[in-house]
Amino acid sequence: MGAGMGMVDNQSNYMAGGAQRDAQSNANAGMMKNRIHEEEPEVRILEYGQYNLKFELTNTELSVANALRRIIIAEVSTMAIDLVQVKENTSVLNDEFIAHRIGLVPIVSESVDQFMTHKQCTCEDFCNKCCVRYRLQKKCPPDMDTCEVTSNDIVLE
Ligand SMILES: [Zn+2]
Repeated sequence: MGAGMGMVDNQSNYMAGGAQRDAQSNANAGMMKNRIHEEEPEVRILEYGQYNLKFELTNTELSVANALRRIIIAEVSTMAIDLVQVKENTSVLNDEFIAHRIGLVPIVSESVDQFMTHKQCTCEDFCNKCCVRYRLQKKCPPDMDTCEVTSNDIVLE
């Protein structure tokens, strides 16, 4: 519904006449001029290692920095829990909520370079090259009403 309303607005602006359209295109040209930097973006590497890079990006638009951030997030491989099998859940939280929260826990691995994604692996189901199994088993002590579950409760099987 919102997109449809936007299309109607664009059409009425286009049909408003040449003078108004020229004024609008001049305004757009001014906006474009303000957005172009005179100099090139500058990247200064502050520190780097095998798995980290700290840099400073200057002399550019916020949108360029955001695009770079999005590319880095998409292209840098990370490990996270993808498939959660719930055997028993007596908590007040539903299974989907717990699975989502578990998926947000970052997994630290020293052998990540030898790990394959499930798409890269040639196995039919799951194997040690493309899958790691963890277990989360937590029971609230009988003398307490609530208990805290942290990433420390997620252990390798
Ligand atoms: Zn596999």
